[in-house]
Amino acid sequence: MLVTDGIHLIDGVKGAHVYLVTGSHSFLVDSGLPGQEDRILKYINNIGLDPAVLEGIILTHYDVDHVGSAVKLQNLAHCPIYAHRLEIPYIMGQQKRPGIKRWLPLLTRPLYGALIPAKEIKPLEEGKVFEDWEVIPTPGHTPGHIVLYRNGVAIVGDLFQGGEIRLAPNYFSWDLEILRKSAQIVIERPLRWILPGHGPATPASNHWLDKLQKSMNG
Ligand SMILES: [Zn+2]
Repeated sequence: MLVTDGIHLIDGVKGAHVYLVTGSHSFLVDSGLPGQEDRILKYINNIGLDPAVLEGIILTHYDVDHVGSAVKLQNLAHCPIYAHRLEIPYIMGQQKRPGIKRWLPLLTRPLYGALIPAKEIKPLEEGKVFEDWEVIPTPGHTPGHIVLYRNGVAIVGDLFQGGEIRLAPNYFSWDLEILRKSAQIVIERPLRWILPGHGPATPASNHWLDKLQKSMNG
């Protein structure tokens, strides 16, 4: 489904949403649970894009429902995987995810298949990536969570949930206080669209921005 500005939300992916950014630079943001690579590639082919033009797979953070199909996609599209340096040891399997997240790859394995650790990940530099997209560090849900921002469009991973925009649930958050600060940084930007990992792609509105602001102050 084309959302806005050449950005597609790939339909039917299990786990978190996968966004396909097309234009002068094309790349994927997140990769769903394991086993989603065929569906993602099919979507890319269906819109007439050659997977060889993909310049990267950007991972907003280390959770299994976001990183699950990254390695298979990388092998199929022959492009690098990118993440914030603090997330890389988790995605490469060198460091264990904290708390319940340690067990999620095992819990999802019977249905979706094994989570393959990435062999190589390029660190995202804070500032700019792929021309005009800004990488905004937004720690809180995880230590190295990032948001991509361009011209009023924010691809927010698990910083916010879509629909009635809310913060990611507390029990899955690494640090709620830091999460609130990160949310503040993003909602101070001019916003047209919030593209979350979960819930619908959501046009920005003052109504929910105000509500969100109040819930963070309260
Ligand atoms: Zn997450």
